[in-house]
Amino acid sequence: MFAFAVCCNTFSQVSSGTGTDQSGNLPVRGFCISAPQPREVDEFVKFIDEELASRLVNTLILRVDYNYQYESHPELRDSVSLSRADVKKLVAICRKHNIRIIPQVNLLGHQSWAGKTGNLLKVYPQFDETPLVKMPEKYVWPNSDGLYCKSYCPLNPEVHRVVFDIVDEICDAFETDAFHAGMDEVFYIGEAQCPLCSGRDKAELFAGEVRVISDHLAQKGRKLWIWGDRLLDGKTTGMGEWEASYNNTHRAVDMIPKDVIICDWHYERPDQTPVYFAMKGLSVITCPWRNPSNAIIQVQDMLKFRRSATPEMKDRYLGMMQTIWSGAGQFLDNFYGRKPERPDNSGNSQVECFKALFGEIQKQGKSD
Ligand SMILES: [Zn+2]
Repeated sequence: MFAFAVCCNTFSQVSSGTGTDQSGNLPVRGFCISAPQPREVDEFVKFIDEELASRLVNTLILRVDYNYQYESHPELRDSVSLSRADVKKLVAICRKHNIRIIPQVNLLGHQSWAGKTGNLLKVYPQFDETPLVKMPEKYVWPNSDGLYCKSYCPLNPEVHRVVFDIVDEICDAFETDAFHAGMDEVFYIGEAQCPLCSGRDKAELFAGEVRVISDHLAQKGRKLWIWGDRLLDGKTTGMGEWEASYNNTHRAVDMIPKDVIICDWHYERPDQTPVYFAMKGLSVITCPWRNPSNAIIQVQDMLKFRRSATPEMKDRYLGMMQTIWSGAGQFLDNFYGRKPERPDNSGNSQVECFKALFGEIQKQGKSD
């Protein structure tokens, strides 16, 4: 019999060792998705009320970006975007079920997607790390510029003044104590064509940006969450260039504040990288996407890490988070069976992965 208590101030405590705990004793049971469009809010609220609550999801990350009617920077709003009242509906239903709601705005990387420039660089092109890279008429990968997504220059003296207004406003709107800054898949950093970054150590640049954001959030008692891929060494591990770094940012793992929460995504293989992060003193959440059998292994691994780790490391294994990479509307269409989910080549499905992930957590909780 085991009887450890979950000792993490940030997260609501869960009972343990009762034999009926369907939370699997995981402090974080998360779900991450694009924030719904305004017309989708009511159904998404129903989804939270019925489907997330019944699965004991306790953390909801909503990728908002510019899908909000920002007052501080109206020039950055998407043409159709969530109102304050829309956001309050989401806040209210999450509060009803004790779900911690965390907004995300992509910082540093992901400032463009395919052939489309994101709102920040569209309005403030002077923040672009690679102004010489022109957006293509028709985006293809690979391409001669190595353009995956644009980045902003972390050393631009004006960029934080703008993005922190947005960060503060969205955190206030969501009444939250945490913010997810994305920071994944940053391919452009410390580029030779940037007069401010040229020649600098990319790991130091990445870590510096993490620290600046973390320090800003700390002023209001908020914690920073990021994706973990830039902190993993792709070449040494053999992990792909999206889920790990091939541009020498990985040494930043030893430079960032230890209270930054790492969302460690692995979609093709259940790599056991949570151990790496925990041994670096960082708290970690494993994130599957659309491979149900991997998700089940990842739950079992996470529980094994929590059981077998030293007392020093145990609480750094925070739990699991399902990531959804379609829009919220499309996901709801698929989930409620109105439209079939388009499977990938392996027939994987994010709806099935979501069900399998939380099914396994509940099963493991029952068998405790
Ligand atoms: Zn720069």
